[in-house]
Amino acid sequence: MTGRTDDHVDVLVVGAGIVGLGIAYEAMLRGARVAVVDRAAGIVGASVRNFGHACITPQTGEAARYAQEARRRWTTLAPLAGFTARERGAHVVARRAEELAVLEEHRSTGADLRLLDAAAIADAVPVDAATAVGGAHLPQDLQVDPREAAPAIAAWLATQGVQFHWRTAALGIETGAVRTARGDLTADRIVVCTNHDVDQLFPALAEAAEVVRCRLHMLRAAIPLAFPLATPLLTGWSLLRYSGFAGMPSAGALRTALAEALPEGIRWDLNQMYTSPPDGSVIVGDTHEREADAPPFQDEDGFRLLLAETERLFGAPVRVLDRWQGVYASSPRQEFLVERPVPGVDVVTVTTGIGMTTGLGLAPFVLDGA
Ligand SMILES: Cc1cc2nc3c(=O)[nH]c(=O)nc-3n(C[C@H](O)[C@H](O)[C@H](O)COP(=O)(O)OP(=O)(O)OC[C@H]3O[C@@H](n4cnc5c(N)ncnc54)[C@H](O)[C@@H]3O)c2cc1C
Repeated sequence: MTGRTDDHVDVLVVGAGIVGLGIAYEAMLRGARVAVVDRAAGIVGASVRNFGHACITPQTGEAARYAQEARRRWTTLAPLAGFTARERGAHVVARRAEELAVLEEHRSTGADLRLLDAAAIADAVPVDAATAVGGAHLPQDLQVDPREAAPAIAAWLATQGVQFHWRTAALGIETGAVRTARGDLTADRIVVCTNHDVDQLFPALAEAAEVVRCRLHMLRAAIPLAFPLATPLLTGWSLLRYSGFAGMPSAGALRTALAEALPEGIRWDLNQMYTSPPDGSVIVGDTHEREADAPPFQDEDGFRLLLAETERLFGAPVRVLDRWQGVYASSPRQEFLVERPVPGVDVVTVTTGIGMTTGLGLAPFVLDGA
């Protein structure tokens, strides 16, 4: 590669998703000259394809630490960058005793979670009241509009002096330099935040952590709800997923009960959940399929499952507005892949579906690393 280039910066971030933007923001706060390169013309990765749910309460271990940092950054950045961060928490609706048991056990660990009876959950979220046996409110959780938030942060960072190089693919990275499709860029420090495409630039790191692509069926729908859905809404399926819930003693019995009631839900690794952006539509998801690549073909059975379960939960018809495939990095071994393959180069990947919860919070830990 060439020597120091004219546009040399202190910190060069590869990847303009929420993880890369978090690094750029933190580096900027620390007074660094910062640039971001992304091969796309704008933000089109997982950071705009998700629910926009910062799912703070059920995180454990390092994810909980990153989530608390991220929460502070979401609320700080929202007024600066001009996007909405709803601080109304999230709800879980329980429709069977095993779901209530997991929520009660999680509460008994001291988690910041308020248990609700059947009447209270039906007052809080517009589900078919006949099916709810109770639920919970998770007061710390946040909601952003996923199509608005990361693009707004990028636009604001640009006004603060962060340079963005769009449509610029990183082809190779070494200490001090990134070889791109538009020439070399140099920096004192490089942070690579390319999500599942970590395997394109650092295959050995990705393979050691067994990182694959997890692809998800997602849709946005018009649903004549009894009243607006004001917070993210999780279901019993979500209690099998987030570590704080999934680690509870009753989670095994819940999994058995859900598998008996809806085998297709297990087959599709369903996480039935919802958020409603400011336009009143409802984001509906999701399924999970993991493999090395992300083939573009989406089996209609996955959508049929989401639509049937959504109509059952809300007791209302669903009109699909758009469908998409989400993709994120997934590792069976760890929730985060944070490595320094060569001096001055950090690789930062969230290797499960909690990057909107934790992504903005990784930055101080990464930048503090020697
Ligand atoms: C359907 C779905 C629902 C989800 N729901 C939630 C949720 O509600 N809550 C939550 O916490 N998390 C959720 N997640 C997870 C979350 O969205 C991701 O963990 C997070 O967005 C990952 O951010 P990122 O910056 O690592 O990746 P991305 O947003 O994918 O950004 C990576 C960027 O790297 C760029 N790139 C890749 N390779 C190169 C290269 N060689 N050169 C230059 N640029 C490159 C890409 O163009 C892309 O812009 C969901 C994910 C999906 C897919």
